Parts: sequence; structure tokens; C-alpha cells
Amino acid sequence: MSLRNFIMELEQDKGELLVIRKELSAKYEVAAVIKKFDSGPALYFQKIKQKQGFLVANICSTREKICKALKTTVDKLHEKIINATRSPKKPKLIEFPFSTPIGNSSDINILPILTHYEKDPGPYITAGIVFARDPVTGFQNASIHRMLVIDKNHLAIRIVPRHLHKIVMNYWREKRDVPVAIAIGVHPAVLIASSSPVPYGVNELYVANTLLDGTLKTTICPNTELEVPVGAEIILEGKILYGKEVDEGPFVDLTGTYDIVRKQPVIKIEKIYLNKDDFIYQAILPAGSEHKLLMGLPREAKIWDVVKSIVPDVRGVYLTLGGCGWLHAVVSIRKQSDGDAKNVILAAFAGHPSLKHVIVVDDDVNPYDMEEVEWAIATRFNASQDLIIIPNVRGSSLDPSADQVTLLTTKMGIDATRPFNKPKEKFEKAKIPVEEKIIDNLTEEEN
Ligand code: MN
Repeated sequence: MSLRNFIMELEQDKGELLVIRKELSAKYEVAAVIKKFDSGPALYFQKIKQKQGFLVANICSTREKICKALKTTVDKLHEKIINATRSPKKPKLIEFPFSTPIGNSSDINILPILTHYEKDPGPYITAGIVFARDPVTGFQNASIHRMLVIDKNHLAIRIVPRHLHKIVMNYWREKRDVPVAIAIGVHPAVLIASSSPVPYGVNELYVANTLLDGTLKTTICPNTELEVPVGAEIILEGKILYGKEVDEGPFVDLTGTYDIVRKQPVIKIEKIYLNKDDFIYQAILPAGSEHKLLMGLPREAKIWDVVKSIVPDVRGVYLTLGGCGWLHAVVSIRKQSDGDAKNVILAAFAGHPSLKHVIVVDDDVNPYDMEEVEWAIATRFNASQDLIIIPNVRGSSLDPSADQVTLLTTKMGIDATRPFNKPKEKFEKAKIPVEEKIIDNLTEEEN
């Protein structure tokens, strides 16, 4: 199961893959095209000026494409992700199948790494999965990090204080470099598993293997001895240098605003391996729909799981695109008693601590349709009774309106479910009672 297989699947479905034949520059031009087709088809770029390989983008830019990749449906998606995080399975190991580029180059500038936005300090790798092993416990971690190209074999890497950060600290305490491998161009399941908030010690590749029903194969890198997915288009081997830090940023994050410049670690790239000579580089546009979905989806699944423990019937959970795929959730439930929705609001905040606003609607409201959601707020919400405000809570570092030092913010929950103490009919959505076939093929003449 690889990115290549999935691109072929998309190609077979009309309109899901758009081939761009025009030669474009890796600086701004490709990013502008990706943005134009945000939430649209996957894009396959055939020619990038002065670069080798092909480039794909928007591979996971819609929920429908992600469902296709995971062989599931929108209403089963969250359950599938939660089940995979709970039952990681070891993939089958095979011999190292990758080869070095022609001329044995280790110059990362051969790759079509994109510069996206006006104030970006340079080209950024945005779909790179970083693998590293904890020197104390020996288990391996996978996570996605943005990486800024500094020169032909150095990258600055943004590491938030999560799992990779802990591994780096364990090496640095002994004044050692950190061996790392980076995979670029992987099947969506590997990307989703790598952005899932599984506990420290759970191997994300094993989660990806469960998501792929046990069809993922992995291999061991020759120098770093790290396990990487077979079928990846590009593998980089190198090390995070002991104690070295450089300026990283400004970079556009989920919110579409610039993140600050920070001192961050440096990776020295020592080896490039390719799946094929005509390799496919994968790019994710910062703040694009794909970025929001990949970040948000595993958190939606977590919210779904916590809410499910409060009300048995959950129609859907949506971290809205307008809410950056991160700060706003809509939860659709079948309420059993008044007050359920308020518990669901609290559960959603517990499931995703970065969440700022949550709206709870009844199961006759499609949570993915913001016009329906607004209709529920308009007809079923009464602010003096249905609004919860929680001041001085820890929010998201990505939210520019939160206190930037303490990260304190105010959270708000909106209960837009219909009250049980008023007649049900008052809130009923009016329907026109005809069968679907009556309104099909209206322009065709009858025989
Ligand atoms: Mn991890």
C-alpha cells in the first residue's frame, strides 16, 4: 500500500486527479495552484523548474478522499481511526528496497521542495515523517514536522514539546546526535497515523498497518537502523545535531497567520534514497484544507470517542475548516435528556484541549454543513440558557487571540439542540413528501 497505488486509484475516478502539465517554479507558483484547488481534486505536477521528480499535492484535501484511502465512509471514519490507535499491529519487514539517486547525490535541492508564502524564509518540507528511536526504552516514534532548507544538506526542524522532543532531550543529555530517518511521499494512512495523538511508546507505523488492514510493509534503513514504510517515495537519513539551534520561521500555521521565529534544532542529511528514479515528491500547503484535515481528523476521532461515552448516538464530529480544523467543533448527537448537550460540550473540550468553541446540534442537523448548523443556532439556541462560557482556560498556542505568554483563553460552548420542555413539532424541519425519483431526470421526455 503506497502513495503510488493511491494516486492510481484516484486517477481511475474521474475528476479526483488533475494533471498539471505546465512547467512551474517551486517558489510560490506551485503553492498558488495548490491553493486554487484547495478542497478540490488531488494535483499531479509533471514539471517543476530546475528540479527532479514529480510533485503531488491535495492528496488528503477532502474527507471523501481520506475515506477512499482508508476504505471507509464518513460516518465510520472516526471509529476506524480510534480502533487502529487501540490495536496497533506490527507490519511485515522486508529487505531495504530503495536506491540512491543517479550520481549518488545527497543534495536535497534536487527535490522540488516548495516555498509557499510571501514572508517564508525559504523552502519547507511539509509532508515529511520523522522517525527516531528513544535511546532509553528503544521504541521508535513517528511524527510530522515542518523542515526548513538551510543549505544542500541541512534542515531546521520545528519540534514541539511532544514525543520527538523527548527523544532529542534523551540523546542531548548524553551530548549525542540523534539518528533520524525522514519519509516523504507515503500512503495517507501513514500520514494520519503519524499525526494521531497516540501515547508515547506506541509505534505509529503499527497504527498505520492496522488502518491498512495489515497490508503495510516496512524496512530497516542501512545507517540509522530505523524502520520506515516500504513504498515511500523518498527516504532521507541523517542526524539531529547535538545542541545546535538556528532561527526557524516565520512559518504559516493552521490559522493562515505567521508563527513566530524560534531557535530550533538542525538536521544534517547524509543520504537520500528513492523509491524509483521518477520519484514523486509530496507537498502539503500550510493552512490548506489538507493540512487542517490531517491535523484535525485524529482529534475529531478523539472527541468522537469521549462524546460517545456520554451519549450513545453520535452522528458526527467536525472540526470546521473555518475554525482552522483545530479551534471550532460541531458535534451532532441524539440527545436523551436535556442537559446531555452541556455534558457533550465539556467532553469535547476534554477530548481536544486546544478547542476553543463547540456547537452541539441534534442528529437531524448535518454537522458538516455550516448552513444547517447556523440554522440550528438560529432556531434552537437561547443564549441565556444554552451558552457555556469558561474563562481562564489553557487554549491553543496557534490562536493569536489567546494570551501569548500564559496561553490562557476563554472557551465557549453553544447548545443548539432543541429543548425537551417545548413541543417537538415547533422544531420540526418541514419536508416535501415526494420520492427521490420524481425529481430525477426532469428534462428527459417520457415515453
Ligand atoms: Mn508518538
